Amino acid sequence: MRRFLIAGNWKMNLGPAETTTFFEEMKTLTADVSDGAEVLVCTPFVSLPAAVDAAAAIAGFKVGAQNMHFEDNGAYTGETSAAMLNELGCSYVILGHSERREYFGETDAIVGKKVVRALGADLTPVLCVGEVLAQRKANEQNDVVATQLKGALSGLTPDQIGRTVIAYEPVWAIGTGEVASPQQAQDMHQFIRSVLTELAGKDVADSVRVLYGGSMKPDNAEELLGQPDVDGGLIGGASMKAGSLFKIVEIANKLS
Ligand code: PEP
Repeated sequence: MRRFLIAGNWKMNLGPAETTTFFEEMKTLTADVSDGAEVLVCTPFVSLPAAVDAAAAIAGFKVGAQNMHFEDNGAYTGETSAAMLNELGCSYVILGHSERREYFGETDAIVGKKVVRALGADLTPVLCVGEVLAQRKANEQNDVVATQLKGALSGLTPDQIGRTVIAYEPVWAIGTGEVASPQQAQDMHQFIRSVLTELAGKDVADSVRVLYGGSMKPDNAEELLGQPDVDGGLIGGASMKAGSLFKIVEIANKLS
């Protein structure tokens, strides 16, 4: 049986009050997500305490952050460490999202340091990779994704890589309504596993969960999650309403 990971990325949306409302709605839909797909939402930092509190009422529902610093503490004004996220009750952290790369200058080397630190604090990193439209048009997507994966993961042990989740997010499909075709997703996920095989061996590569992200919604989730190498979704817009996130969870459960 496949165990999908359905992860919401709220970006800079839903403050603490809206977070509480989201979970009130989610609670009317389910009291327990511990059996089927693993479910989590990654909220803004300020909404994490509200999310962790409210998620406790839904068995198995997890909470994650969208970023963190690679140092444990120190003079890094405005930053948050992995240990702090763990103390709050987070179990996942998104790292290297394309918006962090584009607007905040995050490089593969920085993202790699964050992955190591997250793992050291018992957080599961969701490492995002993906090409922009011009790179897809030039058929450079494999080179781009291989460089991102190797840039972030080369210094890691197979065990560390095995505890990392990869999210393939073609940048041209994020927030645009344009979605990768199921075949494009499958081809890239298979390619990602081949790069992971080079880095950590086939057993690890086969066990790592590779999520698809980019305009996943209830009406396209089934064909994307139906691909053999798609192990779940990283979902922005459609994760901010309890109803639409839950529909995707139900689709994943049906496919399990
Ligand atoms: C994302 O934020 O990672 C994402 C995939 O967004 P959307 O689903 O809105 O395209």
